[in-house]
Amino acid sequence: MGVAPEDSEDLRLKKAVMTIMSTSIAFPAMFWGVFYLYNGYPFSGAIPLAYSVISFSSILHFFKTRHFAFFCFSQQLLILLVPFLLMWSLGGFANGSVVMIWAVFAPLAALFFINLKAATHWMLAFLALLVFSALLDQTFAAHALPMPAGLNTIYFLLNLGGGFILIAIMLYYFVKDRESAYTKLQQSETHIRELMLTDPLTDVANRRHLDGRMVMELNRQMRYGPPLSVILTDIDWFKRINDTYGHAVGDTVLKAFANHLRGSLRASDFVARYGGEEFVLLLPNTTIEDATALAERIRDTTKQLLFEQLELRVTASFGITAARPGETMTEVLSRADEAMYQSKSHGRDRVRVLME
Ligand code: GH3
Ligand code: MG
Ligand code: MG
Repeated sequence: MGVAPEDSEDLRLKKAVMTIMSTSIAFPAMFWGVFYLYNGYPFSGAIPLAYSVISFSSILHFFKTRHFAFFCFSQQLLILLVPFLLMWSLGGFANGSVVMIWAVFAPLAALFFINLKAATHWMLAFLALLVFSALLDQTFAAHALPMPAGLNTIYFLLNLGGGFILIAIMLYYFVKDRESAYTKLQQSETHIRELMLTDPLTDVANRRHLDGRMVMELNRQMRYGPPLSVILTDIDWFKRINDTYGHAVGDTVLKAFANHLRGSLRASDFVARYGGEEFVLLLPNTTIEDATALAERIRDTTKQLLFEQLELRVTASFGITAARPGETMTEVLSRADEAMYQSKSHGRDRVRVLME
């Protein structure tokens, strides 16, 4: 049916709408033409018949070649002609007034369906056809089938109703399309923001995220005064792990350690990868005693992490401090770093607290 497996959802929809729309005009045009021919009005019948033959050829051509751009173009041209062909078939302006409601709807439809530039071309062509129609009005009127007055009104109302339904459908899709485009934009924005703030290897927050979060927590602490504890932790002898087991195993250890940290925290806590194998834990509303207990627990359980290389054991050193009101992030982190360094120099695999 002209739809290819690799088509996007949007393109499939466009192909479906275009095919349904063109066939649903071509079929009635064919019946319209046959009806007039049958009743002895060859001119009025030939116009819609010619339309349906050309339209069906265009549809078949599309099914055979899958040339969608050409199909669209030819159908747009044909649809542009529809109100005029109807009018000429009915015998000029006077008789065709029932269908001239499309003179309003068609350019409006063009605005919705195609872009502004194409719609402008469409409207210019439409106006040209309108002038052409007016010039040849008498010629068409000569072939007219006089229409009973009652039928005229019914035709008019049918066209009016059809036009309104069409506009309503178009408006519905137009609004829905805008909404879904907006939602997609928002989703990709959220996704990009997440990417920007996440460390790709360990999936915890990165340094940039830590910076933002820490400024926020320090401000909050300054205003409301609850304790804010900070833990800096660094894997011991990590270089050795890389050298002994390879960089890939080193990465696995990093990921496992990051997961372990994340799993040990409360929802209000925050963990970020600070450097190669260094992580920062931010613990709002946590006293230094509680932070120390947490660090001891993590230190202990880190040793129990299991890896494929069964002889591989990981330990980490911890430095803890608490932010004092008015301190900068650099001040707090450098004190935590100093505490961590003390853990290293005292033999690693331990926790040190530094308050001054
Ligand atoms: P210490 O106990 O004093 O902390 O010793 P260490 O070997 O852990 O410390 P050092 O800072 O000398 O080594 C850190 C190593 O971490 C060096 C670097 O190659 C490695 N590293 C940094 N980032 C990554 C990473 O993303 N993946 C892997 N596999 N290794 C990393
Ligand atoms: Mg280390
Ligand atoms: Mg290090």
